[in-house]
Amino acid sequence: MKGKTFVHIHPLTRVVNDVVRAFVSLGFEVAGGPEMESAYYNFDKLNFPKDHPARDMQDTFWIKDVPNTLLRTHTSPVQARFMEVHKPPFAIVVPGKVFRNEATDVTHEMQFFQIEGLVVGSDITMGHLKGTLEHFLKNLFGKDVPIRLRPSFFPFVEPGVEVDMQCFKCGGSGCATCKKTGWIEILGAGMVHPNVLLASGIDPKKWQGFAFGMGVDRVAMLRYGIDDVRLLYTGDLRLVSQF
Ligand SMILES: [Zn+2]
Repeated sequence: MKGKTFVHIHPLTRVVNDVVRAFVSLGFEVAGGPEMESAYYNFDKLNFPKDHPARDMQDTFWIKDVPNTLLRTHTSPVQARFMEVHKPPFAIVVPGKVFRNEATDVTHEMQFFQIEGLVVGSDITMGHLKGTLEHFLKNLFGKDVPIRLRPSFFPFVEPGVEVDMQCFKCGGSGCATCKKTGWIEILGAGMVHPNVLLASGIDPKKWQGFAFGMGVDRVAMLRYGIDDVRLLYTGDLRLVSQF
């Protein structure tokens, strides 16, 4: 329309901005790091044992002819980099692009956005983790969202949990979005493994922490009812112009 400017913000950018804003309002700082990373930061410093199957949980793009160098498979190496140069207490949130060498389909892309959080302080418990996530989801969805924690495994946390939120569409009674379960898996989290703190020179007897990570693409798909993740990366203006 003549004389009028329409600004459309990509759904991924919208979700990143909203998530970051929610955590900054809680006092988190924003941190970042390189997308091309060393195995040292991507795996070793995060308690992935050498030659342990845990490394195969993530299909890695290795850089040809550059030893031990890869496209980061998660935003967690930023945790290790941050802890090396900062003394606790701290709370950071890390938005960024990550890469996995896997076949693409409606729910998988080779690159995707992740947002990671890390809090280290004294007397930090699972209760703080749960309270922080509840506050965040309330901020993101504009109402109280019940959550539940299920035991899970990630090498860099102990204990580790998967976090489900009550389905925002049906309120828990069961629908197509939640596959009739009433719950939607939203992120992975846990208490920072003492080995991860030790690897960055932080005394786990004095300091504890929690970490969490979520796929931004997944949150955007849920929030905007987008059913194919690949749409988010085509650059098709017909998608973006709806936002
Ligand atoms: Zn539902």
